[in-house]
Amino acid sequence: MGKLDGRVIIISGAARGQGEAEARLFVAEGAKVVIGDVLDDAGAAVVKELGDAARYVHLDVREEAQWAEAVAVANEAFGALNGLVNNAGVLRFGAITDTSLDDYMEIVGINQVGVFLGMKAVIPSLAAAGGGTIVNTSSTNGLQGVAGMIGYTATKFAVRGMTKAAALELGRVGIRVNSIHPGGIDTPMVRPDNIEGLVSDETASAADIYANLALGRIGRADEVAKLALFLTSDDSSYSTGSEFLVDGGMMAGPNWA
Ligand code: NAD
Repeated sequence: MGKLDGRVIIISGAARGQGEAEARLFVAEGAKVVIGDVLDDAGAAVVKELGDAARYVHLDVREEAQWAEAVAVANEAFGALNGLVNNAGVLRFGAITDTSLDDYMEIVGINQVGVFLGMKAVIPSLAAAGGGTIVNTSSTNGLQGVAGMIGYTATKFAVRGMTKAAALELGRVGIRVNSIHPGGIDTPMVRPDNIEGLVSDETASAADIYANLALGRIGRADEVAKLALFLTSDDSSYSTGSEFLVDGGMMAGPNWA
């Protein structure tokens, strides 16, 4: 018996990375998943592998109408919706003085407004089904400031705050809302071509950056997926409005040892 038998879950940004790992684990645990992303070929390939338990829908999380379409696809293919993982996000670098208003608004649109629209789109369906779960993907950047990442840090703090406001509003209709805070996970987001802002030495990799964490290594997407599974399943039935770290000890403090 799976931990998500019969549940219907939308996962945004699940064409690759952590969202893909969540989709694979959720299906293995008995769920039906709707994968939404802007990477249509990659998303369709994941769904093809997952078979009848999965559907792909083009979903730019900034577009309210596309969220409505994702909910409609879930309802039509699988029935009542039980959960959402707001996973889609982008990483951008830039200090305050180097960040244009357009740059700032672009990351806010995806990482912050996208999470707001996702929650708003699924709440009526979850409430109609008697309750459900929402997992919002923040970051360690939602718990501590990081120089040179003004936009990303702002959006991840916003995700953490919205999670708590939504949890307070929705608890009485049976909807639990929690945030996850990954740090240092090996996905395309932190591969060398995307992290020029983090490394000065061009031969350095994401794995080098995270070598001084308490656990001494970069994390894996499946390790984040297991936390999302916990928060989507009944195993977390008394948790809402909370923040859950999966960061190899990054937030425990600087490691001088
Ligand atoms: P990733 O880049 O591999 O995956 C992100 C996914 O989001 C991609 O499939 C991408 O196409 C999708 N996406 C981007 N813009 C979108 C849009 N407008 N609409 C819909 N989908 C869109 O990165 P990942 O590491 O798997 O990131 C997943 C989440 O985890 C993100 O919210 C990210 O901020 C967060 N996170 C990642 C790390 C890490 O170390 N990798 C750490 C903390 C938080």
